[in-house]
Amino acid sequence: MTRPSSSGRIEVICGCMFSGKTEELIRRLNHVRLARQHLVAFTPRRDTRYRLGNLVSHNGISVEARVVDSIWDVPSNLDRDTEVVAIDELHLLDDPPDAAVEVCQELADRDLRVIVAGLDQDFRARPFPAMARLMAVAEQVDKLFAICVRCGAYATRSQRLIDGRPAPADAPVIAVGGLELYEARCRACYEPAR
Ligand SMILES: [Zn+2]
Repeated sequence: MTRPSSSGRIEVICGCMFSGKTEELIRRLNHVRLARQHLVAFTPRRDTRYRLGNLVSHNGISVEARVVDSIWDVPSNLDRDTEVVAIDELHLLDDPPDAAVEVCQELADRDLRVIVAGLDQDFRARPFPAMARLMAVAEQVDKLFAICVRCGAYATRSQRLIDGRPAPADAPVIAVGGLELYEARCRACYEPAR
């Protein structure tokens, strides 16, 4: 017996800083555009590195995005004909850990393709709860790697540095920044926060 085909699905693109998550998200969204599907992309207001309202990769490619303060703002900001929903930097949304699962499941159940990108671990190498839970229910999870700045191995961790030293364990989990604050490190070169 064949089941009716459905385009509803959740895809998670995760990894450490500088692993190319936004580039991968933008690559998929380019395919969506080529297929002439209607997409709406979202970015958290707390990502202040680049101009508000765009997904921008580190190499400067951009996709127009709507700015949200919470995952709960996503369903009400879709258009009637939206087929694909993209959310970048999900870990920056300060919602309860189950909120992303609830919202994304509901959208996928409505036959939407939901593509989410974000950090899987914080600077203490602990999982971001919303990302971890979303991975558990997603149809597809892609974990990307960066290159360790110390040894050149595959990096999976985001080292936060303050004045060149590992940030203390009690530093805030979210500190938006670029090269001056974070380094991609492998498991061996990562220095735990104290
Ligand atoms: Zn290393």
